[in-house]
Amino acid sequence: MAERNQRITFARSPRGLPVPEDFGADETSIPSPADGQFLSRTIYLSLDPYYRNVMKNSQIYADRLHPGDVMVGETVAQIVESKHPQFAAGEYVAVRNGWQQYGLSSGQGVRKLDPASAPLGAALGVLGMPGLTGYAGTVYLGRPLPGQTFVVSACTGPVGTTAGQVARHMGARVVGIAGSAAKCEYAVKELGFAACVNYKDGDLTAALKQACPDGIDVYFDNVGGDTLTAVTRNLALGARIVLCGMIEAYSMDTPPPGPWLGPIVGARATMSGLVVYDHMNRMPEMVKLISGWIRDGQFRYREDVSEGLAKAPEAFCALMRGGNFGKALVRVGAE
Ligand code: NAP
Repeated sequence: MAERNQRITFARSPRGLPVPEDFGADETSIPSPADGQFLSRTIYLSLDPYYRNVMKNSQIYADRLHPGDVMVGETVAQIVESKHPQFAAGEYVAVRNGWQQYGLSSGQGVRKLDPASAPLGAALGVLGMPGLTGYAGTVYLGRPLPGQTFVVSACTGPVGTTAGQVARHMGARVVGIAGSAAKCEYAVKELGFAACVNYKDGDLTAALKQACPDGIDVYFDNVGGDTLTAVTRNLALGARIVLCGMIEAYSMDTPPPGPWLGPIVGARATMSGLVVYDHMNRMPEMVKLISGWIRDGQFRYREDVSEGLAKAPEAFCALMRGGNFGKALVRVGAE
């Protein structure tokens, strides 16, 4: 066992892309477990994009960092000393030790790992939090049907790798988006995707059109920004978009222009496209219900009536500036 505990600490919130100076380093003595705790030796530290948001103390995470705190993070570790009845020295665990060589744990949220059943590192990737993200987002939100086109960005990372391959197993035609030729080659040859588009290689909207001639039925979005825009130009009717991550904006100091969709993820909200003409068969149902409410005085409305056809242009221009108050009508003739 090493004599001291090396730690990487949080120094400051990054400006833009993180730089090494945003972190500090120190060493402490190796702590001893109290009753109900165990001490473990970190084997793997997971690096996850969300740490960038934790470093700006984003409200959606429970972690709060102050200068000098050890950086938070998931790890795979081996228990070296235990005073916890359910954990024994020698056992392997997935535990949040953070960026340090040794950590204490009360056992809360800790998963025991069997090194014989899967490589230990996978517990931080495809068999851990990122894998679950890709799996659950695909099976329960994206819900691709056999033969449908499923597109996933950051497709060679743990979330994208899992989402894409789960979709492939569900019978979808999977198209990846990645940031290099080598990543795209891997996506097709190793992950079994039907195609992969390198978004750094020219016009992404056109490339997606070519790779997805029938449109995109499901998009699993890991990056947001321009990539999301290009995908939205290629959607099939009834498409579903899973807003998972927006890494393109994590290092921006102010949200990008346009509606910032980050809170949609935090609120687990859904966005759906609505075209009224799809619901025309519900017209009799709606008229019956609301006209009844109007007759009973349970439903109110206003009309903003302009007199004479000649007023139509002016009234329309007012409408487009919010100048109407209620349904804008022009009385063209007597009732
Ligand atoms: P990852 O794919 O291993 O790494 C991030 C990748 O994002 C990069 O390798 C890069 O791949 C891509 N990327 C695209 N645009 C980028 C940009 N402007 N700057 C930097 N990277 C960019 O990461 P991961 O762990 O699998 O996570 C993928 C996404 O899922 C992240 O957005 C993460 O925050 C999100 N996530 C969400 C949840 C949730 O609960 N909603 C949970 C876990 C992860 P390319 O070169 O291929 O573009």
